This record gives sequence, C-alpha cells and structure tokens, in this order.
Amino acid sequence: MEVTRNSVETTAGPSDWFTGSVYLDTVATPSERSRLSASSVHFTPGARTAWHTHPNGQTIYVMEGIGLAQRRGGPIEVIRPGDRVFFEPGEDHWHGAAPIRFMTHLAMLEVDDEGNPATWGDHVSDEEYGAAPPID
Ligand code: MN
Repeated sequence: MEVTRNSVETTAGPSDWFTGSVYLDTVATPSERSRLSASSVHFTPGARTAWHTHPNGQTIYVMEGIGLAQRRGGPIEVIRPGDRVFFEPGEDHWHGAAPIRFMTHLAMLEVDDEGNPATWGDHVSDEEYGAAPPID
C-alpha cells in the first residue's frame, strides 16, 4: 500500500498536445506491474486535445462542466457529467471543453509495452472545433 498525499503539483498540458489552457493532475502512474495510467484533466473553455490515438484505447469520464469529443469521420458529441466515452485502440480522436464552459474528465488507459500512452497528431483547427453543435 502506498499513499500519495495531495501534494503533487498540477501541471500544464504541453502546447504540442493541446490547444488552449489545460491542467493535469496525476491519478495513477504506470509501473512495471500495472499499465494503468489515469489523470484528472481540466480544460478551460475552448481548450482541447490535438488529434491523437491510444495504443490500447482510452476511457474518459466527465466529472464537471460540458465537453466535446469526436472520432475521425464522426460527429462532435456533447458530453456532460456522468457520461463516459471509450475510444478504440488506434481510433483517431480528440476531446475537450465546450467553447464557453470548463470541463474536467478522468482519463484512464493502459500504456503499451514501451510505456507509451498516446500518439499525437495535428491540432484540432478552429474550423474543426467550430463544427460543434450548440450547447443547450
Ligand atoms: Mn484521448
């Protein structure tokens, strides 16, 4: 048993991987015996990930606010607290906050044999993001 107190610094999401301001709190760190990686990810309004894939897929669980998620070629989905989304292994996708709302989700995945959680691609353009349906 290992207790990690609430003392680990919140880190800013790197601009290579995100558009806008995003902050991450670590929930679970992979080790030799566990591939689980989990983070609480806080998106400010309009912030979103770049397009990316996960080698073993990913589940996100919305805890607060209103968010958006899209797989390549699919519609932009509005996601709310209590909603969860599973992205298939290798499925190109993005997720983030709605334009005028914060959004926090728990992100959970299993890293691959080399410890990689994701492969990152292009940023989600304002045009792509702007195709989101209105929040009501
Ligand atoms: Mn993802």
